[in-house]
Amino acid sequence: MESALGELHNVPLHVLDHIDEHQSIETTVHEIVEKVSQLRASDLFFALDDNALMLGCRQMGILRRFRPFSANFGRKLINHIKALAGIDLGDRNRPSEGRWIFRREDASVIDLRINSIPTINGEDLTIRLLDRNFGLIPLDDFGLLSHELSRLKWLLGRKAGMILVTGPTGSGKSTTLYSCLQQLNDGSRKINTLEDPVEYIVKGIRQSQINPKLGIDFADLLVACLRQGPDVIMVGEIRDPQTAETAVRAAASGHLVLATLHSPFAAKAVNAMVSYGVAPRAFAETLLGVVSQRLVRRLCEHCRVPVDMSPVPDFLNDVRRDLPDDWTPCIYSAGHCERCHDTGFVASHCVPEILVATPEVRRAIADRLMPDVIARVARSSDAHLSFRRAALARVALGITTIEEVMRALPLDELEDPSDEATALPAEEVASLVNATSSTVPPPHHQSLRNTSLSEALVDEQSMRVSPARNDSTDWERTGGNS
Ligand SMILES: [Zn+2]
Repeated sequence: MESALGELHNVPLHVLDHIDEHQSIETTVHEIVEKVSQLRASDLFFALDDNALMLGCRQMGILRRFRPFSANFGRKLINHIKALAGIDLGDRNRPSEGRWIFRREDASVIDLRINSIPTINGEDLTIRLLDRNFGLIPLDDFGLLSHELSRLKWLLGRKAGMILVTGPTGSGKSTTLYSCLQQLNDGSRKINTLEDPVEYIVKGIRQSQINPKLGIDFADLLVACLRQGPDVIMVGEIRDPQTAETAVRAAASGHLVLATLHSPFAAKAVNAMVSYGVAPRAFAETLLGVVSQRLVRRLCEHCRVPVDMSPVPDFLNDVRRDLPDDWTPCIYSAGHCERCHDTGFVASHCVPEILVATPEVRRAIADRLMPDVIARVARSSDAHLSFRRAALARVALGITTIEEVMRALPLDELEDPSDEATALPAEEVASLVNATSSTVPPPHHQSLRNTSLSEALVDEQSMRVSPARNDSTDWERTGGNS
């Protein structure tokens, strides 16, 4: 199944196949960026070597490739883009970056960040597409389920404390933060942000950009920003001890602090903060909650294919409470049609894990309990909306597929916790852990119910869950020698 997924992800896109290398460079560059922006790709990649230019993009978090071009034509394309971005064409041996504002055919504007590095294979040029038309999404339109939305709004309604948004690079953390800021930006609060870079300009809030070249980092800017008397501070990323400590101090002194942090799941944010030297007790006192997140691809509603649930009728019982009363047991797999460019998917969709710092959770953090125990304590006091619950509800609602969930979410977090003592009171959990040493790794259950279901559907029913294509090869294999 792994290989089928791999092939599915690398189905080539044909939207640039018609380009003739005799047409002008200017027209070609314009056409490439226009088409790629229509696909709502986040990045466009050019990999040049002696033989060819390989062209790819990241669409909804997945690497896709286009047809290759000749090396000669590719060099001209890269040079033209660099010139438009104000990059010196003379020095190909150093990393360089630039910016270019692109006007689309529908007159909307996209901000393009261009970055070029030399590799031993040839030049690599990446264009990051910041589409301001899609960047700012009101929290109500974010695709959160109602119980998730109310939990997040409750967190944002606190006057002071810290809300962390975590997840790997490319998991949409800044989009979530911007939506949260928009929710708070009602004129009743002074909002300052520290960003690297400022991705979207939001009317009504004061946005500052860090500038490492001038020696202005998050920590310095945060200290200065606190003197500006803000009610809300958004810290683009906590990535050093000084920023972590200052952010905690700011949250403790009456500010609402929103920040992103690298951490695979919510309870592990505690480890990240402690690794930056923050005292667990101080952190516990200021923490309001953690949102961890991943992006899955949203199914195209025009071509999604219903999958019979009868072989596994109880699979979604756990999330029945999160589904509408009239929900009928049905899930979907990806199809293909013109509207989704034959991919079966139309957009990225955020799957959140939300952990609220209740008194029990705070005590567990202050007591330096392990992340899995903190999560268990949170579950026992209904302070935890798990990845599993969020993901399965989205499968049940036909928003995404089981394969997407298994691709994008940490598998350990999809485990069924029902065999754990979820109703265990916090003190008992704490004493249990203290007695057994806090270094015991979390148990790993081989028999994930999700895996069994997926296998049941794919193997026993021979459902067409992952339509593999014969003409697909992966980017890496074709990248160097075409
Ligand atoms: Zn479709």
